[in-house]
Amino acid sequence: MSKKKLKTNLRYDIIILKEGIQMRENRVLMQYFEWYLKPEDKLWQQVSREAKNLKEIGITDVWLPPAYKGAGGKYDAGYATYDLYDLGEFNQKGSVETKYGTKDEYLQAINDLHENGIDVYADVVLNHKIGADEAENVYANEEEAQDRNKDKSSFQKIKAWTKYNFPARKNKYSDFKWNHNHFNGTDWDESGRKNGIFRFYGKNWDQNVDKENGNYDYLMGADVDFNNPEVVEELKKWGKWYLEFTGVDGFRLDAVKHIKSLFMADWIKNMKEIKPIQCVGEYWNRDMETLKWYIYKTNSTIPLFDVPLHYNFYEASNSRGNYDLPRILDNTLVKEYPSLAVTFVDNHDTEPGQALFSYVQDWFKPLAYALTLLRKDGLPCVFYGDYYGIPEHNIEPKKDMLDKMLELRKKYAYGEQIDYFDNHNIIAWVRKGDEIHLHSGLVVIMSDGPGGGKTINVGTKLANSVFYDYTGNVQETVYVDQEGNGIFYCNGGSVSVWIKK
Ligand code: CA
Repeated sequence: MSKKKLKTNLRYDIIILKEGIQMRENRVLMQYFEWYLKPEDKLWQQVSREAKNLKEIGITDVWLPPAYKGAGGKYDAGYATYDLYDLGEFNQKGSVETKYGTKDEYLQAINDLHENGIDVYADVVLNHKIGADEAENVYANEEEAQDRNKDKSSFQKIKAWTKYNFPARKNKYSDFKWNHNHFNGTDWDESGRKNGIFRFYGKNWDQNVDKENGNYDYLMGADVDFNNPEVVEELKKWGKWYLEFTGVDGFRLDAVKHIKSLFMADWIKNMKEIKPIQCVGEYWNRDMETLKWYIYKTNSTIPLFDVPLHYNFYEASNSRGNYDLPRILDNTLVKEYPSLAVTFVDNHDTEPGQALFSYVQDWFKPLAYALTLLRKDGLPCVFYGDYYGIPEHNIEPKKDMLDKMLELRKKYAYGEQIDYFDNHNIIAWVRKGDEIHLHSGLVVIMSDGPGGGKTINVGTKLANSVFYDYTGNVQETVYVDQEGNGIFYCNGGSVSVWIKK
């Protein structure tokens, strides 16, 4: 490592420690959708029906998918943003409702979650817009796809889909109209019927974005220009409107690696002045140095999904028992910046058939969920596709396993945490329990290879007692002596969670 690099890293560390925010304790987030949901599933109605059950299983926060109209109307998962103000209220893109239902059903779902003491995160997709009402003639040059800092052509006239008038909404909530001045570029020239990455004349890609492909400002559709003051003002207005109109408690920020980091930090700061919201950012990069840079750039104000941890799970699940299990948390946010880590196993993008496909194999899911739900650090996020299954890909629900893990978290996963990360194939940790939660404390032991046992000390609070495996994977009981020592077991490719009988 060069001297200069070392110095920069130290600077990041100092800032991060000074400004680091603290995650609220004992919360569990649930991502309440998966990619292949259908309009007839009527998600908002399902949320209302399930709200009470979610509270009972221990979910404290729910992340709902983008609620506004996408270019694909009611078949759009919500990430192809068309009209941020149309929450299933206007006949646009072929229907009034979105894939998940109508505006009234959305507001009802939020209300029902609130009635059950559950906080709601809205999905915020600001990077791009798709499905414009009209195309405009603009000058643009084409960039190399692998290096967006390199021009492939000189400026020429193209026809770009950049006018958003929202005729059916008739200025309700906002009279803002988008045109090419509000965007940096696009990927389609209508006159030449040509695909490419076109940068508009007079525009530069936003700085302080991910460095993949030279500059990864451009992701898809018409790329929003966050240097345009009208855009910044309009998005602040929209954020205020959204908070007041829907009453949500937080935001999940989509695709932040493609958005100027200073805009995002400023926007969040602005939203927090309206209401003390929670937020979490999706920065899809497994490299810790890059995530660290983003944390620094956003003053440690935006907790991030722990993408490196997801990839560790993915690799472990595909290593046929040869993964070095004590390294499962290495180079992850939860290990290095626990107060800024939202831990998760899979999401709507990592499912089979999706853009970031990296689905954690089923046999490893209980191990991965034990690692996110039963340890002290991070805000764990449970995935809808894991809980209810993914019928499109014949993936079975894991409701029973997750209900058990959530119950273990709620009742037993408290107190001091001691790790036994000392064997290539088998790792374990103990939570010693606390005085507030009666009978709390547990031992987690897991193996990606052959099973086996470990001598573990559970502390004096739980000494001199009998333990059993709450997962039911191991039938025998374990006796813990008066010093608190016992020999705990797990099967091969499995996890056991031992609690006091
Ligand atoms: Ca962008």
